[in-house]
Amino acid sequence: MTETRTIFHIDVNSAFLSWEAVYRINFLGEERDLRNMVSAIGGDVEKRHGIILAKSIPAKKYNIRTGESILEARQKCPHLLIMPPDYDLYESCSEAFMEILREYSDMVEQYSIDEAYIDVTDAMGLYSSPVDLASKIKDRIRDKLGFTVNIGISTNKLLAKMASDFTKPDRVHTLYPEEIPVKMWPLPVGDLFYVGRASQKKLYKLGIRTIGELAHADPQTLQNHMKSHGLLIWNYANGIDYSLVCPEIPANKGYGNSTTVAFDVKDAVTAKMVLLGLCETVGTRIRRDGAEVQVISVGVRYQDDLSHESMQMTLDEPTDITTELYNASCCLFDKLWDGKRAIRHIGVHTAHVKTQTGCRQLSLFETKDYEKMKMLDKAVDSIRLKYGKEAVMRSVFLLNPGIDPMIGGISKEKRGIHQND
Ligand SMILES: [Mg+2]
Repeated sequence: MTETRTIFHIDVNSAFLSWEAVYRINFLGEERDLRNMVSAIGGDVEKRHGIILAKSIPAKKYNIRTGESILEARQKCPHLLIMPPDYDLYESCSEAFMEILREYSDMVEQYSIDEAYIDVTDAMGLYSSPVDLASKIKDRIRDKLGFTVNIGISTNKLLAKMASDFTKPDRVHTLYPEEIPVKMWPLPVGDLFYVGRASQKKLYKLGIRTIGELAHADPQTLQNHMKSHGLLIWNYANGIDYSLVCPEIPANKGYGNSTTVAFDVKDAVTAKMVLLGLCETVGTRIRRDGAEVQVISVGVRYQDDLSHESMQMTLDEPTDITTELYNASCCLFDKLWDGKRAIRHIGVHTAHVKTQTGCRQLSLFETKDYEKMKMLDKAVDSIRLKYGKEAVMRSVFLLNPGIDPMIGGISKEKRGIHQND
């Protein structure tokens, strides 16, 4: 593909915090604006999710970091105002944000709850320049939804993403290939997309401290020390990225969900309740898309050494029925778990997604009434849609208030906690 594309990366500034601030101002009539205060969104201290998920720009001055524990943050800044997260609110803000982006292009790829790539190449005839279009989108989001975004512009996703991370908030930046030496190479190598702490350490050992030094390093040396990842980041440092904006969910992507439990799970009954909570959410998503899945996998992470194990199975027929997902999950869990090691994290994932449903081949020895189960799920979904997800729950959860009957409102990938929010 030789045609030059125009790609935007759009990133909500301090997403969770901005959304909370806008909600409080517009719906609760609060006068204070969290965005101008030393504030953060943080998970429940009692639970293991006790980390900073987003911080205001004033909080950044205290060196508060996304991903650090609430305890660490409080040590740096005792008067930090911390609000609990509200994922249902974030999900609806995210949807409204994506809806606006889709007005400008069909090629919108949601990358996380608060980030998207859009390919606006075909729309460019209608605007004087990419900066003109980006400014219009940015202002429209701010005026209609009340929060600000940064937009990065370039000819590929990587450069657009790097550009959106330049000065914030409420800004449009370009990073065209010819601007790389001036705008990207002087930055610390840790600022490059996909260079995490571990890679940064390795690069430092090789004497590479800036993106420019990485760009000029010998790719063979990088490959020797860091395998294919070394080549990937060398390409990125040179502004090379051939990946396309993918508007559709890739086929066979699968539906999944996982959770870190607030306490260590040491018995199968509790583990299976967590599995049920996960299957409820996964099943609802599958049915919402009119899909069915045939492969199901269960994974656990142990408390003692944080190691992970998983096991998967293929069902005889694809399904969208929660009870079937749950039964398969329990079966896998029983094979997987030795009955001794304490579990910290449990996940259910699916694959082999089919979108043409309703072609179940009935076995001669079928004893279950699948139609009845399907109708039950359908009824529960519609009640939850109307009255909220707590409106109906399986009775086992009434006796165990510590476990969420429907774990997670949105997929884990899209809740994404990013360092550069
Ligand atoms: Mg963001």
